[in-house]
Amino acid sequence: MTRLVLVGPPGAGKGTQATALSEKLSIPHISTGDLFRAHIGDGTELGRRVKQYLDDGDLVPDEITNQLVEERLAEPDTDGGFLLDGFPRNVGQADVLSKVLAESDKKLDAVVQLQVDEDVVVQRLLARGRADDNEDVIRNRQRVYRAETAPLLDYYRDILVTVDGVGDVEEITNRVLSALRDRT
Ligand code: ADP
Repeated sequence: MTRLVLVGPPGAGKGTQATALSEKLSIPHISTGDLFRAHIGDGTELGRRVKQYLDDGDLVPDEITNQLVEERLAEPDTDGGFLLDGFPRNVGQADVLSKVLAESDKKLDAVVQLQVDEDVVVQRLLARGRADDNEDVIRNRQRVYRAETAPLLDYYRDILVTVDGVGDVEEITNRVLSALRDRT
């Protein structure tokens, strides 16, 4: 169970859980949102190209995102597995991911869905207050999730592991770990 994807609506706690899970499972945590924010913070050319999408809560175009992930997955620390957080976010990205993995005879082991009601996630995001956490942008990110990302739940139905994302951080981490164990 080492090649994992974490999906869930913005505010589901993917970043928090991904950090804990990557430590417990000793696999690198790859967050496309964090990678984009690092580029923006460093003022790189890529950062300049993606900033407006993050500010508006829209998806960064696939060609930019896919290339970033492909390059990251080519780094040797991912040989023993990885935890993707925030990628793929649409079916086109999922197809690219399958292809990239298949090139080295690999495939995903599981896709973990963190399930949280929309009211709960909106409240959490408003409390968090990141630059893209104002109400209009949050609503747009939820809309994008429903339209673009939620179809992945069906796409990945054979390897999908659904976990209740409401509760203590540690409790949720344990739920994910035991759900992954139960699959093997
Ligand atoms: P959240 O899950 O709270 O929306 P993320 O850090 O995962 O936060 O994503 C923040 C923003 O980064 C998204 O709104 C989007 O603009 C961009 N982004 C992250 N991952 C992707 C992706 N796979 N494809 C396109 N855009 C992405």
